[in-house]
Parts: sequence; C-alpha cells; structure tokens
Amino acid sequence: MNKAELLGRWTREKSEELYGIKNWGAGYFAISNKGEVLVNPYKDNDSAAISLMDIITGVRERGLDMPVLLRFENLLDSQISYLNDSFNDAIRKLNYKGEYRGVYPIKVNQQQQVVEEVTKFGQRYHHGLEVGSKAELVAALSLMKDKEACLICNGYKDEEFIDLGLYAVKMGFKCFFVIEIPDELDIILERSRALGVKPNIGIRIKLSAKASGHWTESGGDRSIFGLNVSQLISMVDTLKEKNMLDSLKLLHYHLGSQIPNIRDIRSAVLEAARVYTELVKEGASMGYLDLGGGLAVDYDGSNTNYTNSRNYTVEEYCSDIVEAVMTVLDSGNVPHPIIVTESGRTTVAYYSVLLFNVLDVEKFEEYDVPDKVDENASEQIKNLYDVNRNLNLKNIQECYNDALYYRDEIRDMFKHGRISLRERSLSEKIFWNTISQIAREKKKLKHALPDLEDIESAIADIYYCNFSVFQSIPDSWAIDQLFPIMPVHRLLELPRRNAVIADITCDCDGKIDRFIDLHDVRTTLPLHEMKNGDNYYLGIFLVGAYQETLGDLHNLFGDTNVVSVRINADGNYDLVKEIHGDSVADVLSYVEFDPKDMLVRFRATAEEAIRDGLISASERREIMQAYDYGLRGYTYYER
Ligand SMILES: *Cc1c(COP(=O)(O)O)cnc(C)c1O
Repeated sequence: MNKAELLGRWTREKSEELYGIKNWGAGYFAISNKGEVLVNPYKDNDSAAISLMDIITGVRERGLDMPVLLRFENLLDSQISYLNDSFNDAIRKLNYKGEYRGVYPIKVNQQQQVVEEVTKFGQRYHHGLEVGSKAELVAALSLMKDKEACLICNGYKDEEFIDLGLYAVKMGFKCFFVIEIPDELDIILERSRALGVKPNIGIRIKLSAKASGHWTESGGDRSIFGLNVSQLISMVDTLKEKNMLDSLKLLHYHLGSQIPNIRDIRSAVLEAARVYTELVKEGASMGYLDLGGGLAVDYDGSNTNYTNSRNYTVEEYCSDIVEAVMTVLDSGNVPHPIIVTESGRTTVAYYSVLLFNVLDVEKFEEYDVPDKVDENASEQIKNLYDVNRNLNLKNIQECYNDALYYRDEIRDMFKHGRISLRERSLSEKIFWNTISQIAREKKKLKHALPDLEDIESAIADIYYCNFSVFQSIPDSWAIDQLFPIMPVHRLLELPRRNAVIADITCDCDGKIDRFIDLHDVRTTLPLHEMKNGDNYYLGIFLVGAYQETLGDLHNLFGDTNVVSVRINADGNYDLVKEIHGDSVADVLSYVEFDPKDMLVRFRATAEEAIRDGLISASERREIMQAYDYGLRGYTYYER
C-alpha cells in the first residue's frame, strides 16, 4: 500500500485502474467525479453520460426492486453502427468492389425488444437477421420490413419452415436457406416446385481451419454442422443435373463464438474464399460469402488471445476479412461478393447491465492469538502455535503445510474426543491467524507459489448479493466465463475489503470467485465496507449476449425486472419500457403448480389448524393474506 492508500485518499483514477473499466468499457462506461459509474452511449460526448445511481434511484422510486437488468437502447444502436461503419471503412480504404451486409443471429438474445431494436437501428445499413429454427423465422418475419437486408435461415428445416421461407422470397425478402446436411436439398427443391418459388440456396461448409476458444467446437473437420468437401461437390453435381446451379448463391461457415485469436479468423476466411472461388468456377451464381459469427468481446479488457478477450479490434477484424477475401478472389479473377457476417455477441453484449444490492456480508475475522498457550495444552496445539510465532517470508511454504497438517490432526483429535470444543476453538483461531499472516507475507514474494494461489479467496469476505448466477449469468457457472463486476458508486473511496460473491440461491455453485484482471484472473474482488443501513450496489457488465435465455429457474428465482433506457443527447434519459420480473406464482406455474389450487389447499390446511385450536379464524385471514402476498411477490429479496 502506498501512502495515499493508507490515508484513504483514493481517487477516481485508482478505481478506473483497479476495476479496468477503461479497458473493457469500450468507451461506453466510465467513472464520474462523484465516484459513480457512468454510461455514455456517445463515447466522445460525455455531457450526455448518465450515472447508474441516478437510474437506480429512478427505478426504485417507480417501485421496482433489485435486481434489475438495464438495457441501453443506444448501446445497441451504437454497436450496430460501429460494426457497419468499420466494414464500410475497410471496404472503402481497400477499394473492395462488393458490399457488407450484417445479420443479427436471433439466438444470442431473442427478447422481442432486442430483435425489434436490431431491425429498427439496422435499417439504415440493411442489417438483417439470422434464424436457426422455425420459431426464430416466425419471430423474424413479424419484425422484418427491409427487403434489402438478408434473412439467413440456418438449422434443420422441415416443410413448414421451408414453405415459410419460400413465401418470404415470394414477398421480396432476401431469404436464404443454408443447407447444413445433404438431405435437406431434396425437400427444399420439392417444396419450391410445389409452391412455384425459386429458392436462394446457401451451403454451410466444414473448414479444416479450427479456432481456439470456449465455443469453437462448431468449427473444424469434425464439427457437427456443415458439408465436407466431397458432400459439397456432390451437391454441386445434383444442382447441375437439375439445372438449378443458378440458385446456389451463398457460401457459409461458422467457426464458433468468441474467437480470441485473429490468426484463426484470417485462416478460416482464406480457406472459405478459396472454396467460394471454386464454386464460381463450377458455374454457381454465388454473390454472397457469409463468414458466420466469432467476433469476440474483450470481457477482461486485456486485449490478448485469452478466452475472455481478443487480440484484435473490430476495425482490425473488418479490414483483415476484407483484405483476405480480396487477396484470394483477385488471384482467381472472381468478382467480389457481398460479405455477410453473423455477429451476435459483439452486437448485444454491451447492451445490458445487471444491477443488484448487497444483502449481507460475512466478514473474515482475523482472530488475535494469545501471548502464550497453556503448558498442559496438547502437543499439536503447541506445535501449531509455534508455526504461528515463527512464520517469516523464507519459511512461508513450510509454515503453510505445517499449519494445515496440525489443523487436520487437531480436528481429528476432536472427533475422537481427545480435546475439548474450547481447545478446538483456540486452535482454529491460531490457524486462521496464521493463514492471514501468510497471505500478507505472500505479497512480498517475487515469484508465486502455486500452493498459495487461492489463499486470498480462503480469507475473503463473502458478500451475499440479491441475484441468481444461474438466472442472470449462466455462463459464469457453466463455462467459467468472466464478466466485469464492480461497485457502481463510492468509487472515490478505498475499497478495503477483499470479497467473493455469493448469490441468493444458497447453492454452493451460486458464487463468483474469479474476476477479471489485466494479466491474470483474480480470486477476490476489492469492495467497500458496508455502511450501516446504506445500500451498496454492484453491477455486472456486458451481459447482453447469451445470458438472458440460457438462464434457468434454479431454486425458482425467475426473470429479473427489466428496464429499457434511452439516453438523450442532452444527458436526460427516458425509461422506455419496464418489464416486471416473474412473480412467485409465475415461476411455480412454470413447474406446473397451479396457484389457485395452491390457495385452496393451503386454506384447507389453515382451516384444520383452526379446528385443532392452533389459530383463530381472524388469524387464518392474516395467514392467508401473507400466503397470497408471497405468491404475488418478486422471487428475489424485496425490501
Ligand atoms: C451462434 C451463432 C452465431 C453468433 O456468433 P457470435 O460469435 O455470437 O457472433 C452466428 N452464426 C451461427 C450459425 C451461430 O450458430
């Protein structure tokens, strides 16, 4: 600790550095002079920035409780522009002759409002939609208006799906069927004859290029989806035979999501562009090259090829793609196609912020150790005490091992009745005091000792927070994905505590004990001491992609309240839409309880209690009222 920290003179800049907000915030998030997190959709013009604390106050005044998921319309708008402008800049600079047409894959966040806003904000770029199922196609058709935008149909397609897509073509939409398995072609051709509509056919291929990262198993030779080279050629032959090669217009691949390394992206584009060239030479009409998703989000702000990051910018991504496509096609003298990408994660990740309050804290207490232990104490306790007294930087690994050894011995002795509860309590105090000392000494070491890696989280405070990991950030639990987490206020104060976060599901997996860091992964998060009676609010950022519909009803915590915010250029904001989260009755009906039936049953139970003389009739009324409130309440902790 430096002197300023010791004196508690903490600054905004220190908070910025500690929580890395400038690294992962992409210019959208910052800290104000008052030490609060700001959202600024206009990046450069920070007079429009608004404080998350102001929004929290506004939301609470309107009667909505935490947790609340905020969706910022402007950030979605801005990300769509950013992606399109970056591609268009690259196209202009490199003198590419084709165009860019992005599509948004609905599965990344299917909420009606999200899809609607994508189609609205995307219109000026003819930004379209990608669907992977019949339900998504039905949803897309209810919102799409733009006939210039692409509507890409991936996934398995049955007759109903295909008919709907063919009608879309008939109505003038640029709707493509992407063939994922060879058998699909027959049914597409059959339905198109039956309805008299010529289909736009795309083919998804398996590339031999494979990318690293969490979600990338859909690429590579052994990926589940797409045609291999032999299947592709036989499809071309079939189309030729049927005189339908002019319907083959698009080539598609999808390497997987969150690809951290630009080299993987580039080598896939080069391979696909070669296949594209050959298809043109085979006589297919082509015109569209669809490179799928994969554009990663820098969740930890490290700008590296680590899974939660990416070693490239959006601009680099765009110009690398355009340049790679040009290189290959120019050498084959093939006209430049329209480049399509299906970026979902980058489009919506920034859009949503989850806010919640801290309910309680279990502080790690560093117990004092007595000046000496009793002469008659057991050998093991005396030994443990010696370890505690003789600890220094040189022997810290040894002391750590010894402390664990003696603690376990003592616990064993307790089990066998050889020491008392009071002695056991003394030994635990000595043990935890030793661990705290080791954690302090460890900081002075130049090289990390692997055994001591997790020691900070062992002596961390536990902050119990009003949200569910399973409902709101399922990828944190399922694949250990990291999201930026930080307090949204008090950022001019030194955060004196080191904490891990527990949610309210009471499940031992309902916790967060890995946090973003520039060079590594932190096991604790610095947080402020709770002040008596004051609320303390934290935010989890960049949760707009994949988290909302993957979430589940673990312990019956339901959807959170959702508030959509539009920030105006003058720094005012409108709460455009409020969606109340699930009530207890809602989530119970999802698991087939019938709330009306439940009331009837519980009323009968209460009636029995009257009969047994346990409660009075008027008490029954109160009890039934409490039960009814319970059913109608929010599933999270309410004030
Ligand atoms: C999931 C998916 C995407 C979205 O990928 P991101 O990496 O989120 O942009 C795009 N295309 C297909 C076929 C997908 O399955």
